[in-house]
Amino acid sequence: MNLVETIVETRAQIRAWQKEGLSVGLVPTMGYLHEGHYSLMERAVRENDRVVVSIFVNPTQFGPNEDLESYPRDLKHDAALCQQAGVSLIFHPTPEEMYPQGFCSYVDMDVLTKELCGLSRPVHFRGVCTVVSKLFHIVQPDRAYFGEKDAQQLAVIRRMVQDLNMDITIVGCPIVREADNLAKSSRNTYLNSAERQAALVLSRAVFAGQKLAQQGETDAKKLVQTMTDIIQAEPLAKIDYVKVVDQMTMQQIDRLDKPFLAAMAVFIGKTRLIDNFMMDAVGGAAE
Ligand code: AMP
Repeated sequence: MNLVETIVETRAQIRAWQKEGLSVGLVPTMGYLHEGHYSLMERAVRENDRVVVSIFVNPTQFGPNEDLESYPRDLKHDAALCQQAGVSLIFHPTPEEMYPQGFCSYVDMDVLTKELCGLSRPVHFRGVCTVVSKLFHIVQPDRAYFGEKDAQQLAVIRRMVQDLNMDITIVGCPIVREADNLAKSSRNTYLNSAERQAALVLSRAVFAGQKLAQQGETDAKKLVQTMTDIIQAEPLAKIDYVKVVDQMTMQQIDRLDKPFLAAMAVFIGKTRLIDNFMMDAVGGAAE
């Protein structure tokens, strides 16, 4: 496995693979890798001849008062996990390598990015679309792997690839959870033990909402109410949003008559956590 910091070296390796006719999978990450990331890497290794993992805490997707500086980093541990998964190359650029002096071109998106996380994180998806576009141009993967944990991000990337005619297959991978169902996240490391316990309200609310929909409830408001009540019963939790939206457009819906996403962002103390579930139309209702 190669660990590479420059775009030039990465491109040279990619060109060599392309000459040999090898397929390439890309897993973009911000590092501090856990089993959630590992599931993406494993799948990418299964489905491609070579896999590139990018590890880059992307400054453009953080707002001014967010956790860019304190975001956890552990390259040694990450490299060991990548090696174990069978990754061929880690691309670990510096911020200067990705955003040299004078950088001023961005990939922006309307509609999908104005909802859910986009409301409280107004610059976030512009940063995500920009860095993922750059990674796509650098690595030129056949397939790229993203987690359903960041369901809005997945929808945004799918839309971007479609809108900008990028010839890349986007693969969504299921949420990986801790034994007690907390969705795995690099940010879980910020939680103290009381907060770690309180954070279980997210998955409890997700599962309660899912159960209600599975039982045939078609009213989105009832789902939102059920999930909201569970979270509000936890004193350490403060809701950013709990919403049910169309899976493709991220626009709020009233009836669960099309594939939908039930998503939430909740502050546990100072830590903002997200969780969600996705489902097709309830009770086989027509789209
Ligand atoms: P991050 O390093 O947090 O930017 O995440 C990199 C990729 O891993 C994204 O596509 C995430 O959606 C995905 N990911 C993070 N946590 C999980 C998880 N618990 N289960 C599945 N995928 C995840």
